[in-house]
Amino acid sequence: MTPRPRGGEPCRPIPFGKELARGAANRELELVRTVIYPGSFDPFTNGHLDVVERAAKLFDRVIVAVASNDAKRPLFTLAERRRLAARALKPLANVEVDTFEGLLVQYAQRRGACAVIRGLRAVSDFEFEFQMALMNRKLNQRLETIFMMPKGAYTFLSSKLVKEVARLGGEISPFVPAHVEKALRAKLKPHRR
Ligand code: ADP
Repeated sequence: MTPRPRGGEPCRPIPFGKELARGAANRELELVRTVIYPGSFDPFTNGHLDVVERAAKLFDRVIVAVASNDAKRPLFTLAERRRLAARALKPLANVEVDTFEGLLVQYAQRRGACAVIRGLRAVSDFEFEFQMALMNRKLNQRLETIFMMPKGAYTFLSSKLVKEVARLGGEISPFVPAHVEKALRAKLKPHRR
């Protein structure tokens, strides 16, 4: 029997890692708590990394889901954003990077996730995030939204600000992994005065 957590629906059991290798004989070990961390990640920053590292300690599997979000006119293509995030997250064994289009709740259901992680930096994030969490709950009441705060040094950090600073030739190495800095410099080169 697959163990059911008290107080609600379990995550969909999915064989994973060692359990997958053992096969169906060990069914009681197959309950995997999966969480989705969705975003534009244009590009992936140290603030995103901080949130994923925290989530990876709490959940069995974290899926960083890069949204195609064409309406936001991202600087990096979907494939580039995915690649940059995947490289930063390589050391974390229980983290996977994927892309998705369309409704987050449908994607979460397809991936067997029981919760969505969002990062909260400041009060200014709250209103939009709160609305989105409640709308997602309306669309699927079994999908929880969990907010995580990064460490203080990253509370001012956003992909938008990093792009702005890079565009103006400022120092961005404290805010993004080295390979992201390199990619940003390369992407912005032709536009720099
Ligand atoms: P979106 O377009 O969905 O807001 P982002 O890539 O900007 O995508 O952000 C993805 C998630 O990461 C959001 O929940 C956002 O609040 C969070 N986030 C972004 N930057 C930080 C940071 N510096 N610290 C903590 N959370 C962050």
